[in-house]
Amino acid sequence: MTDPKKYGFTTTTLHSDRQKAIEHGSLHKPIHTSVTFGYKDARELATVFQGKQPGYRYGRQGNPTVAALEDKVNKMEDGFATICFATGMAAIAAVVQALLRKGDHVVSSSFLFGNTNSLWQTVGGQGIDIAMVDATDVKNVEAAITPATRIVFVETIANPRTQVADLARIGKLCADRGIVYIVDNTMTSPYLFQPKSVGASIVINALTKSIGGHGNALGGSLTDTGMYDWSRFANIFDTYKRYPTAQWGIAQIRAKALRDFGGSLGPEAAHHLAVGSETMALRLDRECANALAVAQMLEADDRVAAVYYPGLKSHPQHAISTELFRSYGSLFSFELKEGIDCFDYLNRLKLGISASNLGDTRTLVIPVAHTIFYEMGAERRASMGIAESLIRVSIGIEDTDDLVEDFRQALDAA
Ligand SMILES: *Cc1c(COP(=O)(O)O)cnc(C)c1O
Repeated sequence: MTDPKKYGFTTTTLHSDRQKAIEHGSLHKPIHTSVTFGYKDARELATVFQGKQPGYRYGRQGNPTVAALEDKVNKMEDGFATICFATGMAAIAAVVQALLRKGDHVVSSSFLFGNTNSLWQTVGGQGIDIAMVDATDVKNVEAAITPATRIVFVETIANPRTQVADLARIGKLCADRGIVYIVDNTMTSPYLFQPKSVGASIVINALTKSIGGHGNALGGSLTDTGMYDWSRFANIFDTYKRYPTAQWGIAQIRAKALRDFGGSLGPEAAHHLAVGSETMALRLDRECANALAVAQMLEADDRVAAVYYPGLKSHPQHAISTELFRSYGSLFSFELKEGIDCFDYLNRLKLGISASNLGDTRTLVIPVAHTIFYEMGAERRASMGIAESLIRVSIGIEDTDDLVEDFRQALDAA
């Protein structure tokens, strides 16, 4: 492993731990449960605290098992540096905690994961102004920018209606204006898409989803891609300006968000996520093929009113998705024709499990308006294109024919 760049995605992920010696020749980075780390020389402890020497101090700020996962995710995103958090939401919250101040302005896609939408509501009540726009067209983003805009935030493929942001043009706009461009890459994952390629400054991944992939551990990550010139950012505290400019952002986020708000990832979860990530490419190849097969079957059936999947030619952003992504992801959503109750349909599925979460090995289905998007109310749902009957499907790695047959027989039965 001398030059990781020349290896493919899975090879790099599998062998990344071995680039540094691991205790006893262990092939997995061991689970280090110690909360603190002792030094024989007290002066060395001081230099670690002062950031003059790398090392661990206290588990909230860093842990060797978590650091090994950070390194893996950082390689997946071709990043400058990555920090892991307890959940994907903690990684998104870190952006607010570390980078925004009262009076700042954020432009966000209005097509958002429900809890991110809710977070923006909270933040909006704390003196930060959030403009929600249709980010499938860069013109809407540009029109919303003000002199106080610090951040533009988008998802790659929006959860659950699968709108695809105008990723490359927004990247160019942010670069021109010196604005931090944050891309939530959860729905594509670094296997299908590297947001760095469209100029993202920061990439968020909910590790809980495709990267961990087995629904057995929560986690989130924030990657600084190295694309942003932090000397253009108004909100860096002087104390972090003692580092080279490239490190200002990540140093401030690690201290002000991870250390001070404390949403740290535990070492056991980090281990599960690292092991899960080894098979991400294999799982996603299968899931993307399954999702396309089931989405195509549903689209061709006249009992189905609409299917939303970027892999379908009918999808408004099919062309841009083909251009940017390796494939179209494991998630799609659809609406049944009037007269078929979405609950009845879901109850007829034998393989699809009614559950939230996505990116799992098992196929999960959920009636969106009645569950994950219930709290926001009908008006906001309508503005996000969420019909009351919308069903979200996170396709798993089951055998393709079994899944196609399951979603078909439920139509017959409902
Ligand atoms: C699930 C999800 C998150 C949040 O991740 P958690 O680990 O559940 O906190 C953020 N963004 C998107 C797009 C998601 O799907």
